[in-house]
Amino acid sequence: MTVGADQPARSATGGGVARQAHQARRVFRLAFTIATVAALAGCGGDVTATPTLPAPTMAAVAATPTSAPTTAPAPATARTAPPTPFTPTAGPTSPPAATATRSLLPAATATRATTTTHAPLPPAARGFVPILCYHSIRDWEPDDGPQDRPYITPPADFEEQLAYLRDNGYHSVTAEQVYQYYAHGRPLPDKPVMLTFDDNIDNHYTVAMPLLRRYGFTGTFFIMTVTIGNEEFMTEEQLKDLDRQGGDIQLHTWDHQMVTKYTTEEDWQRQLVEPKRQLEALLGHPTPFFSYPFGVYDAASAAQVKAHGYKGAFRLREILDEDADPLFAIPRYIVNAHWTIDQFAAALTGE
Ligand SMILES: [Zn+2]
Repeated sequence: MTVGADQPARSATGGGVARQAHQARRVFRLAFTIATVAALAGCGGDVTATPTLPAPTMAAVAATPTSAPTTAPAPATARTAPPTPFTPTAGPTSPPAATATRSLLPAATATRATTTTHAPLPPAARGFVPILCYHSIRDWEPDDGPQDRPYITPPADFEEQLAYLRDNGYHSVTAEQVYQYYAHGRPLPDKPVMLTFDDNIDNHYTVAMPLLRRYGFTGTFFIMTVTIGNEEFMTEEQLKDLDRQGGDIQLHTWDHQMVTKYTTEEDWQRQLVEPKRQLEALLGHPTPFFSYPFGVYDAASAAQVKAHGYKGAFRLREILDEDADPLFAIPRYIVNAHWTIDQFAAALTGE
C-alpha cells in the first residue's frame, strides 16, 4: 500500500490487518514528504527521483567529494539553501550595553569575547546550537525502499555518532535549555547539541535511549499521541519510563497533520491542546515544546502554536518563514542515514 504525501497518520487509529504491518514504513513515507515540501518551498531538487538531502549534507558533500554517499545523491540545485542563523527578534528586552561586549558575535562586533563564552547575550546574537533530528534507529531491512533509508539510522552508525559527540566534548541539552538560551540568554554547557527523535517509534525506547545513556546523553522525543500503544510505537509505560530515565518528551501533534492545514479552533484543540493535556497527565509535568509535522509551518500557524500554550517550536532547516516568531521556528537538521561520520561532524558546525 502507498500513502500519499498529504495523507496523515490518522489511519493509525483504525483497524485493518495491513495497518500494523506497514505502520513504520508509513511514518517514513510521511517523513519523506519533508523533502517534497522542501522542494516546493524553493529548495530545489527532483523529488520524484531522489530524496532531497538535508542541507548539511550538501555542504559536506561539496567539502569531501571522495566520501560522498552514492545511494542518495543530492541534486545540485539543492545546495543553494544558505545557512540560516538563528536571529530571535522577540526577546524580552534590548540588552544592556554591558552584555553586548560579551556576545558570541564575530570579533568585529564583539571586542571582548575572548574569555567569556556563555555570558548573557542580546537576543539577536545567540550562538549556533546544532539540533539534530532522527527518525527510526534500526538496521535496514530488505524492503526498506531508497526513499525510506535516509530516515532509518542503523544502531551501529548511531553509536558511532554518539561516540564522536562524546569524544569531542559535546553535551546534550533539552528543549527547555535551548529555549532558555535563545529566549533569555541562560548559559548552555560547552559544545551543546540537541538530539531529537520524531514520531514515537518504539526503537527510540528500546535502542536509542539505552545508547544515549551509555554515552552520557539524553534525547528529546516528539510524540504524535494517536500512535501511543500501537504496534511499533511506544506505549504509555515506555513513555513514562523514558521520562523517568531523563528523556525529554514533547509534542508532535495528535496525528501528524500539517499545522498549515488547520482551519478551525477545533483543529488546534485536537492537534495541539488535547494531546498536550494527555501527555502532561501521563508524565505529570509540562510538555511545552512542539515540532512541526514535516517541519512545515508559517508565521500564522507559528503564532497559533504560541497562542495555544506552547513556549517554542522546532522546524526543519530547509523551511524558513522569516516573519515567524523565531522561538517558534527553531531549526533542526535531519541526520541522513547515508551520512559519513565526516558529514555528521560538518552538520554540527552549522555548515
Ligand atoms: Zn513526524
